[in-house]
Amino acid sequence: MLWGFPFMSLPRTLGDLRRSSFSESCLRSRHVKDELRDNLMARLRQDGDDPVFPGIVGYDDSVVPQIINAILSRHNFILLGLRGQAKSRILRALTSLLDPQMPYVAGCEIHDNPYAPICKRCREEIARLGDSTPIAYLTPDERYVEKLATPDVTIADLIGDIDPIKAARGGHELSSEMTVHYGLLPRANRGIFAINELPDLAGKIQVGLFNIMQEGDVQIKGYPIRLPLDVALVFSANPEDYTARGKIITPLKDRIGSEIRTHYPATIEEGIAITAQEAWTKRNGHPLELPGYVQEVIERVAFAAREDKKIDKRSGVSQRLPISAMENVISNAERRAIRNGEQLVVPRISDVYAALPAITGKLELEYEGEMKGADHVGRELIRAAIAKTYDEYFTGANVQQIVQWFDLGGEIQLSDSVSAVEALQNLKGIQGLVDKLGPLGVTQKDSPEQQVSAAEFILEGLHAHKRIGRSEERVFKAGEKKPDAVREKSFDPEERQYRQRRQFN
Ligand SMILES: [Zn+2]
Repeated sequence: MLWGFPFMSLPRTLGDLRRSSFSESCLRSRHVKDELRDNLMARLRQDGDDPVFPGIVGYDDSVVPQIINAILSRHNFILLGLRGQAKSRILRALTSLLDPQMPYVAGCEIHDNPYAPICKRCREEIARLGDSTPIAYLTPDERYVEKLATPDVTIADLIGDIDPIKAARGGHELSSEMTVHYGLLPRANRGIFAINELPDLAGKIQVGLFNIMQEGDVQIKGYPIRLPLDVALVFSANPEDYTARGKIITPLKDRIGSEIRTHYPATIEEGIAITAQEAWTKRNGHPLELPGYVQEVIERVAFAAREDKKIDKRSGVSQRLPISAMENVISNAERRAIRNGEQLVVPRISDVYAALPAITGKLELEYEGEMKGADHVGRELIRAAIAKTYDEYFTGANVQQIVQWFDLGGEIQLSDSVSAVEALQNLKGIQGLVDKLGPLGVTQKDSPEQQVSAAEFILEGLHAHKRIGRSEERVFKAGEKKPDAVREKSFDPEERQYRQRRQFN
């Protein structure tokens, strides 16, 4: 990069700046959007197949190319998507396209360009001090300003305020920027300003925003103020709010160059990758062995919730649901390990049920769901997720022997707090169970913790398919229906709805 200075050797005066690679010809007309574009082009050239935005998973073929195009076009843009679709994260990742150091006139509240200051203070300062005018620097993070829009955001918050009395006392003209107390947007000058949930901004404020974008002029308390800011404006919104009539003033909408739709992960694998990246799993405690089927069940809870009619489609089901659930699942397994003096933490399916408090709060229920209650809906989702995950591993497997053991009156209690050694001893009493763990990658040579988790998954899978029963106290026992009546259901997608409605509930 052009300006990869070590911090200590950065030019400290305007004169030194002129003679450095931050020369007037390089910097004077380099607006933020040019900077983003230049650095993006450099990254595209260098990195080949490496991700442009590291840590943004599942958007490589959809969202990321559109963002790249928006930046290359020097657009202000908006991300439209439901909650928990990494919108804020993407906007923050834009700072990785800013220069490592940006010089500005030291002491300027709006970080004026030393070669083209817009505030009166800096113009006067440079006229007075000339080449000895002090220069300071901002890092990319310091050039990112974020605001959650709410209906009570005012022009004063966002753009600024003037104090007419102070102005009169100081002898300034009212329209002079000396009297302006700057709001968030001017303070983001020469940086990125992100407004989340744009439609919640009052119409009057949208007009002010538009005027700044369009003309560099704005009225504060009726006085015209000239503020030709240099800001890359980016927004996020819920798509339905954004497209609803009258929520966004048309001239502002016209000035937003690109509308980019985000989405939830398209595949379970992508969902697992995001959850693995975001959830707090590397803890200062016992070693953790996180089974793949537990990850899949957690992720499928979110997928099932996004499809479920009992859950509000407009607000969506955030990726924070599997992330929080994962953290709770591990905590429940940790608690069990600590209580039982076990060294290895291996989550079980019963830990997913124990994670309901991390799930229910993230579901916006429709009327039907409200009637049943969040807890009930959450349990149904977990059960559906278990059934589907079970099928991934055990379709066509012969588990008749296990089912028969229960049909002949066998019962086993498997609470989520029971120690692995004790549980394994009991599970070994079920003929044909512990030697069926192969598809899960678990053998009898593995630790008791792993074997118990895997064996419990099979029992939970059979229960999710209603082939065996299970009480509130987590006693597995014979199912209520004749097993064969349930088994005949195929995997035909047309049958799936029937299965989800009838069989899993
Ligand atoms: Zn200034």
